[in-house]
Amino acid sequence: MPKLLVTAFDDEFCDEVVKVLGSKGIHIHGGNRVVSIDGNSQVDSVSLENGSKIQADMVLVSIGAKPASDLARQPGLRIVENGSIWVDEYMRTNAEDVFAVGDCAVKRDFFTRKAAPVWLASTATAEARNAGTNIYGIRVLHQIQGTISAFSTQIGGVAFASTGMTCRACQKEGFRYVTATAVAPDRHPGMLPGASELKVKLVFADRSGIILGGQVSGGFSAGELINMIALAIQKKVTVRELDMLQIATHPLLTSAPTVHPVINAAHQALAKLRAVGRELPPVKKAA
Ligand SMILES: Cc1cc2nc3c(=O)[nH]c(=O)nc-3n(C[C@H](O)[C@H](O)[C@H](O)COP(=O)(O)OP(=O)(O)OC[C@H]3O[C@@H](n4cnc5c(N)ncnc54)[C@H](O)[C@@H]3O)c2cc1C
Repeated sequence: MPKLLVTAFDDEFCDEVVKVLGSKGIHIHGGNRVVSIDGNSQVDSVSLENGSKIQADMVLVSIGAKPASDLARQPGLRIVENGSIWVDEYMRTNAEDVFAVGDCAVKRDFFTRKAAPVWLASTATAEARNAGTNIYGIRVLHQIQGTISAFSTQIGGVAFASTGMTCRACQKEGFRYVTATAVAPDRHPGMLPGASELKVKLVFADRSGIILGGQVSGGFSAGELINMIALAIQKKVTVRELDMLQIATHPLLTSAPTVHPVINAAHQALAKLRAVGRELPPVKKAA
């Protein structure tokens, strides 16, 4: 891969990860395949495609995974992309009374319905709740309409989180989009002890203004901020609804209401949409 975390983040966030790691003395050799792990009785170096060698005492290999689905294949469960077990929207396999959830069950992307190898405990448990609720008969309809790849992590004391489509994914899949980024301290005023900067990037569909994705980095509140964005994606919230969002703020707990980065990013995206004369649907009236 050319950069770290390219499936979850756009370039500026990937580059931030590299910068944080660099500040801890960790060097990233992106876009450069390992061609051999060298040594006699033990490893002494790793050779890269560009001809360079890295001295090594130990090598940790972490290059992905795939389901070990033989156990499911033998009794005739349908196996699809990447060895995943096929399931319907209620986590039912093709065999009567057999359900599959979690890493072994196929995931479909929320926007494209393509297979999406997003293997997370948060996804697995949502699927488990879906299967458990429907196990004695379908009681809850269409609750899991595909994965929105909600993901968070913490690298060198900085939180990184993402959900939905990145700009890179929009370009790859041919989605037209508008995006905006806002930065604000997560306390107010920002010089309060313990304040960190929060960066929020939002991606919207350029005609409907429906939110497609979000990326957040900075303080640890990014971990819950992304969950708010994840809910907005699942509920197909528009840029205008986010611009008018009602929120709670407190100096010791959140960004200032005047500069809240989710609202500000939406506000900027709305301004961009207005500038190019896109018509957005009016804000939905409360039921
Ligand atoms: C290092 C690491 C960090 C992670 N961090 C996060 C995170 O921060 N957030 C997040 O959401 N997700 C995270 N994940 C992903 C998360 O752990 C998985 O998505 C989740 O555990 C999947 O749940 P599961 O029940 O499908 O599979 P598993 O948790 O793998 O459970 C499968 C179980 O089946 C058992 N089993 C396998 N074969 C057999 C057999 N033949 N007979 C009986 N038992 C069998 C296994 O022993 C295992 O206990 C992380 C994963 C790793 C590896």
